[in-house]
Amino acid sequence: MSTLHQAKDRLIQNYKARGLVKDELAFRAFKEVPREMFLPENSRSSAYSDHPLPLMNTGQTISAPHMTIMILEYLELTPGLKVLEVGAGSGYQAVLIAAAITSSDEVGHVYSLEIVPELVNYARKNIEETGYDDRVTVISGDGTLGYEDASPYDRIILTAAGPELPPPLFEQLEIGGLLVMPVGTPRMWQVMTKFRKTTETDFSQEVLSSVAFVPLRGQYGI
Ligand code: SAH
Repeated sequence: MSTLHQAKDRLIQNYKARGLVKDELAFRAFKEVPREMFLPENSRSSAYSDHPLPLMNTGQTISAPHMTIMILEYLELTPGLKVLEVGAGSGYQAVLIAAAITSSDEVGHVYSLEIVPELVNYARKNIEETGYDDRVTVISGDGTLGYEDASPYDRIILTAAGPELPPPLFEQLEIGGLLVMPVGTPRMWQVMTKFRKTTETDFSQEVLSSVAFVPLRGQYGI
């Protein structure tokens, strides 16, 4: 077994021992997707060190492994769902979600929006090279406006921190659907929050954890 595989296994054992994540779908996806393939060559050897890593020289970061797997559990994923992600970055989280919503007889789809043009290309390249381009579509643009063409979505995840739930994203969420986002000000801890759309106009919300994400840009960003 390669060193990377061993490092990944150690992370999984550690998350299980601490009870950090329980969702088997999340572990299956985490095992399946090679995080190293979403990193520049010079940081691939630290793919399973549990910390965030820079995304090219854009000032953006790819989240730490524990956060990416916790997001899978927060989203309560099941095979066949349609998911919108805001902030494609490297494409890693989108592919993790795609892996989790695929089973032997159901294949879901992830639409991922990215506002930085060079990251749109980077994410697309990584997704193609790992063979997930049939299940993940990267779209260039302001994710706070959502992507109406493929709406409504069963799940929406924002991987950048914003001040409030962007109204277009609430509109594009299916009734009964979930939206998870870090709510708060940049450069400080934010509150990872789960919104559940209960009717066309109402939602309930639950606080999940304290997190540190890069700022959400765009019309309803910071
Ligand atoms: N999910 C990514 C990491 C996200 S970092 C991964 O797995 O690698 C946050 C990303 O959100 C950055 O790439 C940033 O450019 C993007 N972003 C910030 N505001 C945005 C917006 N309004 N619309 C789309 N993308 C946005």
